[in-house]
Formats: sequence, C-alpha cells, structure tokens
Amino acid sequence: MCTDNNNENSRPVTPSEEDCCHSACDPCIFDIHKKLLEEYERRKKQSIKIQNKPNILRLCLYRNFVVFNVQELSECYILLILKYNENNYKDCRILIDPGQHVVLHVCDTAKPYTPIFFTDDSIEFLIRLYPNGKFSQYLKTVKVGDIIHIRGPYGNFKYENNSFQTIVMFSMGSGITPVYSIAKSIIDNELEETKVHLIGGFKNISHIPLKRELQTLSDYWNFQCTLYISQIQNGCNLHGINVKSERLGQKSISETLENKEASTTLILICGTNQFNRFVEQSVKCMNYTHIHVFE
Ligand SMILES: Cc1cc2nc3c(=O)[nH]c(=O)nc-3n(C[C@H](O)[C@H](O)[C@H](O)COP(=O)(O)OP(=O)(O)OC[C@H]3O[C@@H](n4cnc5c(N)ncnc54)[C@H](O)[C@@H]3O)c2cc1C
Repeated sequence: MCTDNNNENSRPVTPSEEDCCHSACDPCIFDIHKKLLEEYERRKKQSIKIQNKPNILRLCLYRNFVVFNVQELSECYILLILKYNENNYKDCRILIDPGQHVVLHVCDTAKPYTPIFFTDDSIEFLIRLYPNGKFSQYLKTVKVGDIIHIRGPYGNFKYENNSFQTIVMFSMGSGITPVYSIAKSIIDNELEETKVHLIGGFKNISHIPLKRELQTLSDYWNFQCTLYISQIQNGCNLHGINVKSERLGQKSISETLENKEASTTLILICGTNQFNRFVEQSVKCMNYTHIHVFE
C-alpha cells in the first residue's frame, strides 16, 4: 500500500498498482489521486497554504479499522461498528460531513457505504443484506477483531446551517443512510431552526431499520417522519412515526410538498437510480429547484 505523509501541503503520493482493487470502484483511487494532484497544482500556483486537517481518514490511502461490533437490526439490515485504534494517530480524529460516504475494502473487493454516525475513532454503518450480495453477505459474517480497510470521505453535498426553512428527504431502502445522518446532525444542533421531513420507502414493516432512532428524532419539534410500506399490512404502528400502507408515488410526493415554499425548501433524494430519477422529475415538475440527489 502507498504511504501517506499526512500533509495537505505536500504533493499527493501516487498510489501503487496494489492500491487499486480492480473492482471498478467509484471513485477509483487513481481518479481521486488525479483530482488531489490538480488541486495541489492549483494551490501551488496561487501559493495557498492550507491548515492540516487532523483527519484519520485519507482520500487515497486505506486505513485499518477493527470490527468492534456487529448487530442484527431488522430482517435485512445489520449495524456494523468499526474502530480505529492505531496509537500513532492520537492527535487525529475521524471527520466526515453528514451525507458523505467512504469505501470499505476487504478480501480484494471494495464497496461504498455511508456512515450513519461517527465518533473521534469509530464509525457506524447500516448495511442492507442482499441474498445474493457478495459484499453485504460477507460483512454479515465478520467477527469482532477482524480488520476492514477504509478510505474517504467522498461526496459533494454541503449544507450550511439554517440555509433553508424546510428540508424534505425522499429515501428508498438503504438510501436512508445519508439522509438520516443529515437529519440527525440538524436535530442535534440547537441553533438550527430548519424543519426536517424524512420520508422512507420500504417493502414491509420488518424491513425498517433505525426504528428507535427515528422515533427519538420525532420527539423534536422540527422533525417529522413518514414511512411508506409497499406490501399491504395491517396494524403498522410506530409511535411518533406516520406509517402508510401504500407505495411512495406521485400522489404522496405531491401531498408531502403541498403548501411548501419552493424557494426556501431543499429536497434530498436517495434510493435506486429509477427512484432517484422519478422523484427528481416529480419535484422539478412542481417547480422545486434546490435538489440534491445522492448517487
Ligand atoms: C455512494 C453510495 C453509498 C452507499 N451506502 C450504502 C449504505 O450506507 N448501506 C448499504 O447497505 N448500502 C450502501 N450502498 C450500496 C453498497 O455499496 C453495495 O452496492 C450494496 O451493499 C450491495 O453490494 P453487494 O456486493 O452485497 O451486492 P452485489 O453483489 O453488488 O449485488 C447482488 C444482488 O443484490 C441485489 N442488489 C444489490 N444492490 C442493490 C440495490 N441497491 N437495490 C436493489 N437490489 C440490489 C441485486 O439483486 C444484485 O443482483 C451505497 C452505494 C453507493 C454508491
């Protein structure tokens, strides 16, 4: 693996061939290096020096994390907690903007995942298990003490406090991860006056992850949660959460956005490609322009 001098002002170290896992990662470690190099050349030309960010995570270099805990959350989700405990990085900490993702690398394969929570030295992931999913099924079998490599964080979503009156988040399945972490960061910030409405689509009630966490957020004045369950089920009752036995479709999008002011509302979208395109088109037709799609 390539070494990293941890100094943002020096030339980014070129990754070696072994740093690439050849599994068509997005972003690939070489694409990231190219961008860092362009940024470095631009800063050099303009003689800009930047403060070193004491971030444990690096864009072009994998860090070794240890599996700290794996818990079953619902029928098809696990919670994976990874911890960084290398002694020589005591002055650094993990820094990830809400909504950003990292790349997990294990057994010559790498996949992106979005942390739902992090501390100075640990990261929590919500992992959806797919019956034929190579990586997610592997993560289900990891044991406390196993090593998983992480690089990142990536993603260009930037949020400024109180920059919108309302944020409406449309998510499908595991697409809840970036919007949940953004919602939590807003609700946890006492200076925030933004109202958040998180909408999630799931197949059935036993598939819903983070039930207790969403209920806790619902205790706050500025958080509202509506979950759409596509399989007809009776008695879907989750205190504090509005559970609807119907598909998240055009009608529900229109109803959610009724009486909202387009100029002061931010729309966040995260799900499958098909879901993202459908919701994006629908909200554009309703004249919403502040839209961010997580892909
Ligand atoms: C930026 C980004 C962030 C992500 N964050 C998360 C996250 O926080 N949590 C999380 O669980 N996943 C997340 N993912 C998805 C994750 O990276 C993997 O794609 C996912 O875990 C499936 O990998 P796999 O190897 O298990 O399945 P694969 O071996 O790639 O696929 C096997 C089968 O699983 C099914 N499948 C796989 N992916 C999907 C899907 N998205 N929708 C429907 N069926 C599917 C299909 O039937 C497929 O044939 C993210 C993806 C991106 C691009």
